[in-house]
Amino acid sequence: MIVTRFAPSPNGSLHLGHAFSAITAHDLAQARGGRFLLRIEDIDGARSRPDLAEELRADLAWLGLEWEDVAPQSSRLAGYAAAAERLRETGLLYPCRCTRSEIVAAATAKGPDGPVYPGTCRGREVEPQGEVAWRLDVAEALRRTGPLAWLDERRGEQPARPDLAGDVVLVRKDRTTPASYHLAATLDDAADGVTLVTRGMDLFAASHVHRLLQALLDLPVPTWHHHPLLLDAEGRKLAKRRGSPSLGDRRRAGEDGRALADSLRRGVLPAGVSRGDRLHCPP
Ligand code: GLU
Repeated sequence: MIVTRFAPSPNGSLHLGHAFSAITAHDLAQARGGRFLLRIEDIDGARSRPDLAEELRADLAWLGLEWEDVAPQSSRLAGYAAAAERLRETGLLYPCRCTRSEIVAAATAKGPDGPVYPGTCRGREVEPQGEVAWRLDVAEALRRTGPLAWLDERRGEQPARPDLAGDVVLVRKDRTTPASYHLAATLDDAADGVTLVTRGMDLFAASHVHRLLQALLDLPVPTWHHHPLLLDAEGRKLAKRRGSPSLGDRRRAGEDGRALADSLRRGVLPAGVSRGDRLHCPP
């Protein structure tokens, strides 16, 4: 039986792109007699809002979806800290104090998510006190695990290339948010028994990193399904700040959510919205 999930961050209202993602995961589970989980990824410090988590549940119900709730990320912090400690003990994490602008200035490569951290603090004596992030020494980690691969249902077997993202942050500087997205999502998918990680193509590169973390932390390896993104007229990912109406606005205006979900399933999209299948869409 497959177990898949929708894992929104309640930092903003859901829009059509989120609806498409949730429907895709829901329908994959339903078609295969599996389970569809909802996990609220609410560890983004001050940006996470409990009212938005409630609102998004109303949105999903309006679309006609049914799901099983699993624990929100904010209730799992001790597990993240324990995993980070375990990695620290292996010597694969190093502290880093670099600011975003220092990284932009020092970066020589551009990765899937912007400038790649050039390893400035790797091998340096950085006092691990106070405001430090902890980064994964990806080259050393890969040396220990050997070559890894993972399977995307739509794109086939992928040789894992976590090196493309550079030495990613696993523990953030912000003490209220101990784990980065990479560490938290990887641990949670394992803890929730997720066998099929369903999410958009915008997170394809993250899966390379997650595959490495699974190997380092002895976690089960799921299959992935990266679905196409919905794009606006300029070919960019839909975003509320660029005028994509939220699902809540549509719901409150009296639109029929089930009918909207069915149009998305049939590929009938509102004017100006298209489906893109590129690996990296402009943010
Ligand atoms: N919380 C992430 C987001 O809203 C998605 C995480 C995932 O699907 O792995 O973009």
